[in-house]
Amino acid sequence: MGTRKKVQAFVRVRPTDDFAHEMIKYGEDNKSIDIHLKKDTRRGVVNNQQTDWSFKLDGVLHNASQDLVYETVAKDAVSQALDGYNGTIMCYGQTGAGKTYTMTGATENYKHRGILPRALQQVFRMIEERPTHAITVRVSYLEIYNENLFDLLSTLPYVGPSVTPMTIVENPQGIFIKGLSVHLTSQEEDAFSLLFEGETNRIIASHTMNKNSSRSHCIFTIYMEAHSRTLSDEKYITSKINLVDLAGSERLSKTGSEGRVLKEATYINKSLSFLEQAIIALGDQNRDHVPFRQSKLTHALKDSLGGNCNMVLLTNIYGEAAQLDETLSSLRFASRMKLVTTEPAINEKYDAERMVKNLEKELALLKQELAIHDSLSNRTLVNYDPMDEIQIAEINSQVRRYLEGTLDEIDIINLRQIQEVFNQFRVVLSQQEQEVESALRRKYTLIDKNDFAAISAVQKVELMDIEGNLVGEPDGQSFGLGVAPFSVKPGKKPKTKKTPKDQVSSSARKEGASSPVSGKDFDVASISKTQLIPSSKDGDLKDMLARERETSSIEPLISDSPKEELRAPRPSTPPSRTVAFEEFKNERGSEINRIFKENKSILNERKKRASETTQRINAIKQEIDETKDALNFQKSLREKQGEYENKGLMIIDEEEFLLILKLKDLKKQYRNEYQELRDLRAEIQYCQRLVDQCRHRLLMEFDIWYNESFMIPEDIQVALKLGSSIRPGMVPISRIVCLGEDDQDRFSHLQQTVLPEGPDSITFYNAKVKTDQKAYGSIRRAWWRAACIINALNLRRTGVDQGYDKPIRP
Ligand code: ADP
Ligand code: MG
Repeated sequence: MGTRKKVQAFVRVRPTDDFAHEMIKYGEDNKSIDIHLKKDTRRGVVNNQQTDWSFKLDGVLHNASQDLVYETVAKDAVSQALDGYNGTIMCYGQTGAGKTYTMTGATENYKHRGILPRALQQVFRMIEERPTHAITVRVSYLEIYNENLFDLLSTLPYVGPSVTPMTIVENPQGIFIKGLSVHLTSQEEDAFSLLFEGETNRIIASHTMNKNSSRSHCIFTIYMEAHSRTLSDEKYITSKINLVDLAGSERLSKTGSEGRVLKEATYINKSLSFLEQAIIALGDQNRDHVPFRQSKLTHALKDSLGGNCNMVLLTNIYGEAAQLDETLSSLRFASRMKLVTTEPAINEKYDAERMVKNLEKELALLKQELAIHDSLSNRTLVNYDPMDEIQIAEINSQVRRYLEGTLDEIDIINLRQIQEVFNQFRVVLSQQEQEVESALRRKYTLIDKNDFAAISAVQKVELMDIEGNLVGEPDGQSFGLGVAPFSVKPGKKPKTKKTPKDQVSSSARKEGASSPVSGKDFDVASISKTQLIPSSKDGDLKDMLARERETSSIEPLISDSPKEELRAPRPSTPPSRTVAFEEFKNERGSEINRIFKENKSILNERKKRASETTQRINAIKQEIDETKDALNFQKSLREKQGEYENKGLMIIDEEEFLLILKLKDLKKQYRNEYQELRDLRAEIQYCQRLVDQCRHRLLMEFDIWYNESFMIPEDIQVALKLGSSIRPGMVPISRIVCLGEDDQDRFSHLQQTVLPEGPDSITFYNAKVKTDQKAYGSIRRAWWRAACIINALNLRRTGVDQGYDKPIRP
C-alpha cells in the first residue's frame, strides 16, 4: 500500500470579458480563491449575511491553456495509471462552465483538445517508452442519463445493439458493467476514433432522444494491463483511468425547471450529492460502509473513487458575478473533496496459468540439470519421479530387513527415497506395535488391577509370556523369561482373603510361635499355615524336615482315625520332635504322608517334563533362527545373481524352497511344544498347591498329635473334650500351662465381659451346666482351666485379637 494522499482539487475559471474582479480574487500562489459578496440591500441595514469566503485548493487555473490544464491536472494521474494505480479525473461544475471543453476539448481544433485525447496520447507515448513491458489498452465510454446506462460506443459495427439493459456487476476483480463494450486499441489513432465515435453519439442522442448532453454523466475509461517482457510474466499489473465529465451541478431553484428538465435536475442533484457522500465516506477512517449503490454514478465508479485511487477533481466555474451563487456552491464542493484522503496502491495480479507453465518449465530445466549432475558424478539410473507402489513396497522390505538385521544399511539415493524410508519405518513400527498388541490380547486378558477376584483367578491359571514360557517360575527353573506374577514377586506376599483358619495361624505367629518346619526350605505360605503349636527349639526336627523335602517324602498327616486306644502309655519325658515326627509319619499321619509323597512325585515328574519341553523349545528356536539365517543367505545370493519372476511369482531354487518348508515345520513343532509347555505349567501350578496343602496338613496334624500325646495333661484333654469340638492338641500349649489353680474368678469375669459375644457361648453354657451337675473336684478344676482356654480360642476365632494377644490375667 502506498502512502495516504489527499484528493487533488483544482479550479478552472472559464475565460470571460466580464470577470468579477471585485468579487473573485486569487491567492498569490494560485492555490486559493477568495470570494467577496456584496451585502444584499434588500435584507435591511442589519443582517448577518456572510459576505466573504476563502477556498484553499491545489491550483487555480485562470486563463489556462488546455495544455497547462492537462499538465497540472491529469498528467501525473495518467502516468501513474501506467504504473498500476487506478485514477479518476472528474470535471464538476454548472452547465456551461467548461467541463466538456476541459475534458474533451474542442474536437475541431487540435490545439484545444481536452484531457481525454491528451491522456490517450500520453498512454501510447509511455507505452512506446516502455519496451520492457507488453501493455494492452482498452477503452469504454459510458453515459449515465437519468439513472440509465448508455454505451456511447455501441454503435460500432462489431458491437451490435444490446438487447438487455446494461447492469453494474461486482466481482472480486472489481466493478464490471455488463453490456458495456470495451475496445482494444493498439494505437493512438484507434483510440481517437473511438473517442470521436462516442462524442458524436453523445451529440446525436441529444437530438434524436431529446437528451440534454449537459445533463448526463460521461465516463471515458482507459484500461491498461502491463506484463513485463523481461521479468516473471506471471505477475502483471492492471489499472484503469476514469475521465469523468459530470452533469451540470446547478441547483433547481436557479433553473426554475419543470417537467422533464425538473426530472433531469433531480437525478443530477441526487447523483452528485451521493457522489459527494461516497467520497466523504471513503475518506472517513471510521466509516466501514460507503453508500456506493445509491446512484448509478457512484456504483459504476465504486472501485475508482477514493480507496486506492489517485483522485483529481477539477471544478469549472464562471468568472462572472451573475453566476457567483453556483460558483460558491461548486467551490464548497471542491474544498470538501480536498479533505478526503485516499491510499493509492498498485494493482498487482498473478496469472495462475502462466505461473503453472513457468513452474513446469523450471521443473523440466532442473531435472535436466540434475541429470547432468548425476552423470558427472557417475550416479546413473537415479529416478527422481514420485515413487510407485512397487518402489514403495521395495523400500518397505528394505526397512524390514534392516530392522531384522539381515540388511546392513539402506543406500541413500535421493531425497524422495530418504523420505520414503522414514515413512516406511513409521509404517513398519506401527504394524509391529499392532501385532504385539494383538498377540498380547490373544494371550492375556485385561483385568482391572483392583479386581482381586479376577487377579486371583488369573493367578490360578497362570500367565504365559510371548515365547510361551510360564511367567515367573517360582522355583527358578530354566524357563522363566517373563514377568513374575505378583504372587512370587520378592517381598510381596499374595493378597488373599484370610480364612478364619488363617487368622488363627497368623495370630499364632504373632504370639511368637514358630513351626518346627519354619526353616529356609519351606516357603512362607506353607509356614503361615502350620502354626498352632508353641515354639520349639528342637533343631533336629528342622533338619529332618529339610531332609524330607529334599527326598520328596514329607509324610502324611494324622487322619482322624481313632487309633488312640492303641496308643502306648505316655512316657514321662516327651520324645524329641524329630523322633516323634518319624513315628507320627509311620503311624497316625501315614495316610496324609502317603498322599503328600504321591503329589510331590507327580509335581517333580511334571517339572522334569516341563524342563525337558523347555529345552526342546529352545532347541527348536535355535534351529528356527539358523534356518532363517540360511534362508536370508539364500535370498541375498538370489538377489546378487539376479531374480527371476514368472507371472508375478519369484522363482527360487530347491535349496531355498526346502529351507522354507523346514522353517514351516519347525514353527509347527514350536507351537506344539509351546502348547504342551503351557499345559504342563498349569498342571505344575496345581500340583504345587496340592503339595503345599499336604505339607501344611501333615505338619499341623503332627503338632496336634504331639501336643495331645506328650504335652497336654490327660485330665485337661478330657475336660476340653467335654466342652467343645476343639481338639485339645490345637490349643497353644503355653495357654494350658499358664492357667493356675485359681482361675475361676477371672473366668467368671471374662464370661461376663467377653463371652456373650463369642460364637461358642452356648457350648460354654452347656458345658458349665454339665459340669455343675457333676461337681467333681479335680475334673471341675480342670474344666475351668479348659473353659478359659476355649474362651481364648473363641476370642481368636472371632478376631478379637486383644483378648488373645494380651495376657488374660489382668
Ligand atoms: P459544460 O460542459 O460545463 O456544460 P462546455 O464545456 O460545453 O460547458 O462549455 C460551454 C462553452 O464554453 C463551449 O462552447 C466551450 O467551447 C466554451 N468554453 C468553455 N470553457 C472554455 C475555455 N476555457 N476556453 C474557451 N472556451 C471555453
Ligand atoms: Mg458539458
